[in-house]
Amino acid sequence: MLIDGEAIADTGSVLHTFNPANGTAHRPTAAAGEAQVDAAVNAAARAAAEPAWRDLLPHQRARLLSAIADGMQAQSEQLARLQMLENGKVWKECLAQVAGAVATFRYYAAVCETQGSEMPPARGNYWAMTTYEPFGVVAAITPWNSPLTMEAQKVAPALAAGNAVVLKPSEVTPSAALALGRIALQAGLPKGLLNVIPGTGVQAGRALVAHPGVRMISFTGGTASGRAIAQTAAERLVPVALELGGKSPHIVFDDADADAAVKAVADGIFEGSGQSCVAGSRLFVQRAALPSFIDKLATRARSIRVDLPDAPGAQMGPIATAAHRAKIEAMVAQALSDGGELLAGGKRPDGLPQDGSFYLPTIIGGLRNDSALAQQEVFGPVLCVLPFDDEEDLIAQANDSVFGLAAGIWTRDYARAWRVARALQAGVVWINTYKQLSISVPFGGYKESGIGREKGISGMRLYQQSKALIWGLGQG
Ligand code: NAD
Repeated sequence: MLIDGEAIADTGSVLHTFNPANGTAHRPTAAAGEAQVDAAVNAAARAAAEPAWRDLLPHQRARLLSAIADGMQAQSEQLARLQMLENGKVWKECLAQVAGAVATFRYYAAVCETQGSEMPPARGNYWAMTTYEPFGVVAAITPWNSPLTMEAQKVAPALAAGNAVVLKPSEVTPSAALALGRIALQAGLPKGLLNVIPGTGVQAGRALVAHPGVRMISFTGGTASGRAIAQTAAERLVPVALELGGKSPHIVFDDADADAAVKAVADGIFEGSGQSCVAGSRLFVQRAALPSFIDKLATRARSIRVDLPDAPGAQMGPIATAAHRAKIEAMVAQALSDGGELLAGGKRPDGLPQDGSFYLPTIIGGLRNDSALAQQEVFGPVLCVLPFDDEEDLIAQANDSVFGLAAGIWTRDYARAWRVARALQAGVVWINTYKQLSISVPFGGYKESGIGREKGISGMRLYQQSKALIWGLGQG
């Protein structure tokens, strides 16, 4: 791990990680316990208070962020490989995610350099200014599905905002975060400003959010973990940003461009083996269009090439861990025993390594929106298909979920798209496209999908608190 600029190889406890494509164990990673969490938070607190960092001008902080982006770009292939070997995403997607992480650092360099204070209009004989200050130590906790994307999304704006960061990556994917920490040091980021402490959620994660030196918590992961973190944050009265799970409705009206919709629906659930928070995992198709749409979709799902993540032309790699595949298999078995009809997949593919955790693109129909499969997040390549009659029926079903992360609408009727998009309870609604993400667009969930918005210009403000300065102008 990386604490106060020092690499620590032995903490007396380790994390075991595996290549999900073939089950091979990687070299163990040192795992943080309470002592390391304490050391990392204390190092971050010292670094955050250093005048050299505290008083660094925004354009100088921006230069450091750009240097980190350059360092990541120069090591794109190594970073992509680290992710591929730990979570099994296909090579093309890993490379694209590294490029996205580089762009995130560049974006927040620009935001850092261009954001100013504000002067609200005075209502008397004074000047008022709103300035923005860092919290101090930010705890960043990330999941395994898109490690570097999430880590860049937290670390870049938190540093841009003038904080120091303690980053706890997922126990499944610690390597990309460690590489990011090394790159930041090489790029000239002073020691202690980015500490990386791999460890489990129950040990390192809990100790980190409970640490009195942590002044803000930024978390991406499952809703149950988010709720536990929010409870601790409530006790400590520190702000949290939570990016949590989803069960996003992908909606196809009978006037949609069916071929474009079939492709988007398939990509929306099967890319990354469905291990995406915004996966379109509930497909709603208008009743009359359902049979022909399902025919085309099932054909497409069966044509998806599931293969080793670095095989040329691979479209879907393995599930990130064997334990997670077992959970997906149990949820599919439950759906079938609840009366679900298997329309594609539903099993492991043939001809791939026995110790790899592969699973075929799976489509299940014949269930109601109140079934377990339609309500619970699978976080795998499993699509639940549901019919709807009209707009009213659709909106009622789509919103009948504890989640509210994303949604997609396919229709040629723009007035209808507008009405439905406004009625859906989701932090992002895609219209005639899906999973189009951008660092410049604020992102986050409604309901149990989260609290707060990352990304965009306001993504830097998430890591700052405002201070009002009011200058009296004397009598008269
Ligand atoms: P997870 O909640 O199990 O773990 C996420 C991180 O939290 C890990 O680093 C873990 O060690 C840590 N953690 C777990 N319990 C903790 C606790 N009590 N205190 C502190 N830290 C704790 O999630 P996962 O299985 O790694 O990721 C999958 C989940 O993440 C899915 O639900 C998915 O939808 C969600 N996700 C959401 C987004 C988003 O932007 N909304 C993006 C990616 C993933």
